[in-house]
Amino acid sequence: MPASKGYAAQSAQSALAPFAFTRRDPGPTEISIDILYCGVCHSDLHMARNEWGQSIYPLVPGHEIVGRVTAAGSAVTRFKAGDVAAVGVIVDSCRHCTPCERGDEHFCAEGATLTYAATDRVDGSITMGGYSSNYVVDQRFAHTVPANLDLAAVAPLLCAGITTYSPLRHWKVGPGMKVGIVGLGGLGHMALKFAHSFGAHTVQLTTSLKKKEDALRLGADEVLLSTDEKAMKAHEGSFDFILDTASAHHALDPYLALLKQDKTMTLVGLPEQPPVFNVFSLITKRASVAGSMIGGMPETQEMLDYCGQKNITAEVEVIPIQQINEAFERMLKQDVKYRFVIDMSSLK
Ligand code: NAP
Ligand code: ZN
Ligand code: ZN
Repeated sequence: MPASKGYAAQSAQSALAPFAFTRRDPGPTEISIDILYCGVCHSDLHMARNEWGQSIYPLVPGHEIVGRVTAAGSAVTRFKAGDVAAVGVIVDSCRHCTPCERGDEHFCAEGATLTYAATDRVDGSITMGGYSSNYVVDQRFAHTVPANLDLAAVAPLLCAGITTYSPLRHWKVGPGMKVGIVGLGGLGHMALKFAHSFGAHTVQLTTSLKKKEDALRLGADEVLLSTDEKAMKAHEGSFDFILDTASAHHALDPYLALLKQDKTMTLVGLPEQPPVFNVFSLITKRASVAGSMIGGMPETQEMLDYCGQKNITAEVEVIPIQQINEAFERMLKQDVKYRFVIDMSSLK
């Protein structure tokens, strides 16, 4: 069984610390990957601290993985040793239900297997994430990476990228639409880049006015301070779509007020507390509140290929793994520009 080393939380209260474990041997359709980079998603922090009540310890976080294939099973067709491969939030599913057959593995009727803190379908062990030296995964749940992109800056595409690309595509964001992105963090800055790239008039909503210049540089047509009631009022009833990426508790009503009649605000952020809003915010214009979660394997590959064509990657601050606990604290202070990525060579 391949040995692995990584960083794990031993409980909801403990900091991440070095942890050694083993991975199972790869099967015929599986690849082994040496991890080069792993992005730091706010979900990793929610999970390390058991904020959603589903964590299993020891917990090795990490689901924005880019690495190099070290071995490929006899039935693997898409990868060979030496190739770059990328892995996101899920690493398995039943593969035969209707959503799985459609390529919506993330909506698997039997429940997709998460990259960490989930029960492995093959051997019943608990999955350990990408804050580690290596991974073993079926080729169906691995992606190829366009050769022109910087690998550290690709890692965040595997969660922040697909989680924003998918709803923007689903709600057909494009030219002629005014689109709001709530929160300029890891997900938010990718949403901003995609909405801009899809041709929408893109408005970045933020609680941090100091991020204004960055938002404009990253593609925002306008920046709106969500705590400025007067400025918010001036935009009332003018948005065709809003994507909410905020990681902490906030009332939805000030944002719902921005929507035109019959339009949708989609939540991808997952604060510890459930969202609150006044039903009047919806009924007075038949507005919808919706949700979206990552994306299926075909759409994830489509997103990566799109990024290759358009030269889109994340804005990253590369850190050694020894700085992960500090990175978590900075994320809580909304002090991320705009995704931490761990250089896994620092594990050695
Ligand atoms: P992040 O990098 O920490 O960014 C979150 C941003 O939310 C902050 O930078 C801040 O932006 C904004 N924010 C924080 N508190 C706020 C508040 N009270 N009101 C309004 N805005 C606030 O986090 P992330 O990695 O992008 O993740 C964002 C959320 O998405 C997390 O809850 C994460 O678990 C979730 N997530 C969901 C999925 C999915 O499939 N649905 C996938 C990945 C992550 P400003 O400073 O600009 O205000
Ligand atoms: Zn994530
Ligand atoms: Zn399924």
